[in-house]
Amino acid sequence: MESSSKNYDVKGLERFIEKLAETSEVDVKKALHIFKLISDPSNKNGLSDEDLEELTGYKQGEIRRILRVFYDARLAYYRKGKHPKLDTTRYYWRIEGDVANSALLRRKREVLNKLKMKLEYELNNTFYTCPNDNLRFTFSEAYGPDGEFRCPRCGALLQPEDNTQLVESLEKEIRRLEEEIAEDEKRLYSS
Ligand SMILES: [Zn+2]
Repeated sequence: MESSSKNYDVKGLERFIEKLAETSEVDVKKALHIFKLISDPSNKNGLSDEDLEELTGYKQGEIRRILRVFYDARLAYYRKGKHPKLDTTRYYWRIEGDVANSALLRRKREVLNKLKMKLEYELNNTFYTCPNDNLRFTFSEAYGPDGEFRCPRCGALLQPEDNTQLVESLEKEIRRLEEEIAEDEKRLYSS
């Protein structure tokens, strides 16, 4: 338990939560707050949605939606338990360092795959842009039905685009992410 909290990639996880909250359309600040509470190493037995409501003042429906997002991302998990006083079932939520880091690693691999696909697309195509409205076309799109290389929107002559810079920045980003993933893997699986 101690070692997993020591290996916690807090910054990376916070960025991950932000992205996750944005795409799932839940409140980013509230999601970060709840993440902080349930991932705290002192939260050994888990927090129920009622506990979280008490701690944050957020509506239970909102809290449940955020927990659901964490659960679907395989970030948080719950334990079923009895309420200490009432005879009803409660769900007690937790996030553990290693589990959270694995979820983050999965996410980074997904991003890496997308970047590689984008790079391949950039390398395998030549592009043309319209000087008027900045629309971008591949060769076959630019060629058009008559081989005229004209913008289908405004009719201007399309200009060949040099995508070297874009390719270089994609390659740089891919290298950076690959290094990050390798480090994460070392940290997660070397024990
Ligand atoms: Zn145009």
